[in-house]
Amino acid sequence: MAKNALEVPPKTVASASTRPEVRSTRAAHAEGDRTMTLAEIQDKTQQYLMKTPGRLPIAFVRGQGARLWDTEGNTYLDFLSGIAVCGAGHCHPHLIAALTRQADELMHTSNLYLNGTQALLAERLAKLSGGYLSFFANSGAESVEGAIKLARKHARLHVAPERFEIIAMQGSFHGRTYGAVTATGTPRYHENFGPMLPGIKHIPFNDVAALEAAVTNETAAILTELVQGESGVHPATPEFVAAIERLRAGQKILLIDDEVQTGLGRTGRTFAFEHYGIRPDIFTLAKTLAGGFPMGAVLATPEVAATFVPGDHASTFGGNYLACAAAHAYLDILENEKLAENAAAVGAYFHEKLNGLKADFDFVELVRGRGLMQAVVLSAPKAKPIQERCLANGLVVNAISDTTFRFLPPLNITTAEVDEAVAKLRLSMSEA
Ligand SMILES: *Cc1c(COP(=O)(O)O)cnc(C)c1O
Repeated sequence: MAKNALEVPPKTVASASTRPEVRSTRAAHAEGDRTMTLAEIQDKTQQYLMKTPGRLPIAFVRGQGARLWDTEGNTYLDFLSGIAVCGAGHCHPHLIAALTRQADELMHTSNLYLNGTQALLAERLAKLSGGYLSFFANSGAESVEGAIKLARKHARLHVAPERFEIIAMQGSFHGRTYGAVTATGTPRYHENFGPMLPGIKHIPFNDVAALEAAVTNETAAILTELVQGESGVHPATPEFVAAIERLRAGQKILLIDDEVQTGLGRTGRTFAFEHYGIRPDIFTLAKTLAGGFPMGAVLATPEVAATFVPGDHASTFGGNYLACAAAHAYLDILENEKLAENAAAVGAYFHEKLNGLKADFDFVELVRGRGLMQAVVLSAPKAKPIQERCLANGLVVNAISDTTFRFLPPLNITTAEVDEAVAKLRLSMSEA
């Protein structure tokens, strides 16, 4: 019997099975605090929100699987999934059930106490990754920050005290907080925000000679994505990864692999590093980790992870009960619905269908990608007008520049949904 035992109060929330099926978007929206029209949402956004990021003039109010509905009652096929976040699709019943059950029991206690749900999640990630230990955060950027801190402390203590420098890649994306944005290889994201975090330098991605030339006796770690996401789905070449492996072995330089976008099924394997047969010292997760709930993680080999001692690093929210319940549910779905295998098979099918567009549209230059992370590059600046037509035709796509599209559909997407999306894309290309 516990000390000071009080009877545990009964739970009150109904299970997700009582949730109604897809209803009209008007009704769904009216269940919130108040019903708003698109014009009202635009007005208040203009009046009360800071003007970043730029937003397209659509407000979604309901999602299910790969479908979204907007305030106007339009239906969309979602080939972005909230930027690779809703890997299990929208409103998966298993995620809803896990979140409502946990919300009814306990949401948050801080990390000053033990948390069994979190410990079980770390055990699952250790099994999935082959032995990595976890630290939980709330976003991709925050996970990258933790990874940089861990790498620097490890290098200083266990390699040489003068080692602090991080080599990062041009065209990379690691987030918007200071360490992460410094590491991000897009100069525009640094403009007027200086000074950046010292001790991070950039080299051209996939350039072996530049990498070798950049290493000094101050180099602590190489930070890279294995498939660059934001820049338009650029996989690392095997030669580049081999060069990183040589530097790790010969000069005790750590590899931080940013798997925030690639991790947990997206590329057709559980982790992108499996494609290369390597094991990074540290890797990061976020985006799809909790299936739509905000969560990040830093994972490291036991040897590197041991560098962090109590008090070194912390997060108030990181790995709270609600986030961990969502992540457990996502991992259940990953396993039960074989999301990585589906991403490999349907991703290959999608890649082939996208390649088929070249025959009909001479401005479709090339298709690039891995699993369900695909990009289409155009030879003419038509991506924005095509994206506008896609949205009008009910397909959510992501024009990341005037010439490049990125596609990140849910990982349980079907070939029938791919056919439907490609038909909409084809129609939109012919209209633009
Ligand atoms: C999205 C992304 C991040 C940043 O994640 P946030 O949750 O937006 O902070 C970091 N690294 C990679 C590879 C990403 O794709």
